[in-house]
Amino acid sequence: MTTLKQLQEAFRSGEEPLREDEYLGDDSLPYCKKCNTRRWFVTDDGKWAIRVMCDCQAEEARKQEDEEKRRKHLDEFYNRRELSLLGNRYKNANFTTATITSNNLEAFEKAKSYVKNLQEVLKYNIGLYVYGDNSTGKTYLTACICNELLWRKQNCIYTNLASMLDYISASYNGRGDGKGGLLARIKACDFAFIDDFGKEFLGREAQPTSSKWAEEKLFEVLNERYNAQKPTIFSSNYSIGELISVLGLDKAIVERVNEMATRVIKLEGDDFRSDVCKRKSEIAKRLGI
Ligand SMILES: [Zn+2]
Repeated sequence: MTTLKQLQEAFRSGEEPLREDEYLGDDSLPYCKKCNTRRWFVTDDGKWAIRVMCDCQAEEARKQEDEEKRRKHLDEFYNRRELSLLGNRYKNANFTTATITSNNLEAFEKAKSYVKNLQEVLKYNIGLYVYGDNSTGKTYLTACICNELLWRKQNCIYTNLASMLDYISASYNGRGDGKGGLLARIKACDFAFIDDFGKEFLGREAQPTSSKWAEEKLFEVLNERYNAQKPTIFSSNYSIGELISVLGLDKAIVERVNEMATRVIKLEGDDFRSDVCKRKSEIAKRLGI
């Protein structure tokens, strides 16, 4: 340990060299040439001094720390997104790039409020049921919500009933759906998204046994999330009423869905896919096709 006096003497005599970006101040201690603050902290009793960062070094360190945090957040986000099973097509779906029209404006505003009020959504277990005709952008809207929640450090699973059932039958065939499997994750994750809900039950009369089995398994999963009070977000071509009237889904399931869907959001048709088709058709036309 060197006392303050010894230190000042060492700097004055040059025994202790100054760094290239330092100059010797009137108090015989090194100062930063750039920000003119002292690089040594003198203790209250005035006897000792320890090297510290000057203002610009501290600022630089803060910036690096922020950058490090940002990179870590981004890495964790990519990791959560990978685990969410959100399809490649929707990985970059977000509120800023969404095509907002007079038809979907209200739905998007509600979706934004949903993620903005994340703490309340979790506290009161607020789920959503988004429905509308084909090509109204339901999947895009729910994918935007999913990405935003992933960014806010929530663990999400974005799946559909067909995938869930595939996993379940795989587990029956000994291929396993252990603790890390899809079903376990659907039950445990903060938010579960079930896309295109009901589609699997179209034409169920043709295969009553498998459809009954699918219903049982679906009820099991929904029940687990319901009991754990975790929010679920459904998207569907059918209104909740139509799940019974059109698809003939078991009443107990529909009641459960109804309870879980705190808010129902209807998307009016803009037919995004036919817009794409129109554009493509124009391109093809210009090519003389
Ligand atoms: Zn400095």
